[in-house]
Amino acid sequence: MNKCAVILGAAESGVGAAILARKQGYDVFVSDLGMIKEKYKAELIRREFDFEEGRHSEDKIINADLVIKSPGIPDKAPIIVKLKEKGIPVISEIEFAGRYTSAKKVCITGSNGKTTTTLLIYHIFQKAGLNVGLAGNVGQSMAWQVAENDFDYYVIELSSFQLDGMIDFKADIAIMLNITPDHLDRYDYKMQNYVDSKFRIAQNQTADDVFIYCTDDPVVSDEMSKRKLAAKCVPFGLGAPPDEGAGITDKKLIINWEQNIFTMSILDIALQGNHNTYNSMAAGISGMVVNIRSEKIRESLADFKGVEHRLERFLKVHGIEFINDSKATNINSTWYALESMTQKTVWIVGGIDKGNDYSQLFDLVKAKVKAIVCLGTDNSKILQAFKHLGIDMVETQSMEDAVRSSYYLAKKGETVLLSPACASFDLFENYEDRGHQFKHSVREL
Ligand code: ADP
Repeated sequence: MNKCAVILGAAESGVGAAILARKQGYDVFVSDLGMIKEKYKAELIRREFDFEEGRHSEDKIINADLVIKSPGIPDKAPIIVKLKEKGIPVISEIEFAGRYTSAKKVCITGSNGKTTTTLLIYHIFQKAGLNVGLAGNVGQSMAWQVAENDFDYYVIELSSFQLDGMIDFKADIAIMLNITPDHLDRYDYKMQNYVDSKFRIAQNQTADDVFIYCTDDPVVSDEMSKRKLAAKCVPFGLGAPPDEGAGITDKKLIINWEQNIFTMSILDIALQGNHNTYNSMAAGISGMVVNIRSEKIRESLADFKGVEHRLERFLKVHGIEFINDSKATNINSTWYALESMTQKTVWIVGGIDKGNDYSQLFDLVKAKVKAIVCLGTDNSKILQAFKHLGIDMVETQSMEDAVRSSYYLAKKGETVLLSPACASFDLFENYEDRGHQFKHSVREL
């Protein structure tokens, strides 16, 4: 009799897992507590999968030999608790996919910058002509690709939720960008639990593997001083270049790797700002590790187009530049956005606050911001936090108003920055919707 795999959650990762599980000889049952998106439902029907939506039929699920769950389902969900009590293995789609491919895996985690760095590495590898797939939080399901493609490399964005469901998976190259408090509700409000989850990216690595990490990040470097990782550890930071790793001298990004030295003026890098220099360093080191020629890496770092909603320089209207950083949903990413501003800035901020400590932004706001435009259903915390700085503050509750107010407050040569430091669900469907509405309102000016 075939073994039975149950897939919980039927979106990109779930449908991919179902396809791969069947290919590997499992009987497959797919269950989603919510309604399945049309696109995925059609795929399940076309491929004649046994599936349900709007419920979890416990009797069927509880007889699984293996459960593959979507990273969106928390460990505390009743069905997961039951499965664990019964000793049924519950893993993530990436863990499952990793079992059936011998491709080299470049994995990226961190609290901020994952998508940008993942796409940047994918861009470098593609330009170098490598046969590479893009997976994890961005791109297609890895399991789906493992079932239907034959890549030599995967570049994989890993959130801590995904890492939590990973047991035997091994990253050939692991990247740790930074760790700042986020999603602590899923980690019993204990920072160390979140840190441990992120460091799962290094589990199972051996001396033949590489662990690339940011030495400037206090949480990461503190944790590194406590751990002894098996992989070769390669640091990057904005200080002097280490013997092996990346750093800066005289406005040049330098990477030392084995006998090779990579250099590039930081002015030539497409993604500007210190946070992006980190991302470019991590990506550049990965390129060196897989032996891509320096020339190709330089070219790719110079012509990368950036990612929508991440410090996206959208449009100039009457000499005022509008920048869309809608993806900045926490203080740390907004900190870097403000830090990278070179002109006086009107700052649009607000939404659903996940417990922000705005005092971390005071110095930057004093130095760079000429007016604050609050955008949220409840702006009181922001008004309260910044009022002592004596900067102009405006309250708005729609994107159209926020953009129009910003436009009146800014002068030629100045910048309007949407970098909300908050989640978007009070007024928008998600951060993409917020970014699109911003761009639409700017176009209407
Ligand atoms: P993630 O996938 O980890 O959420 P993104 O690449 O989508 O990261 O970027 C999220 C936000 O963080 C954006 O506002 C972006 O400008 C900012 N950001 C990008 N890289 C970094 C970094 N290395 N450190 C801090 N903030 C960053």
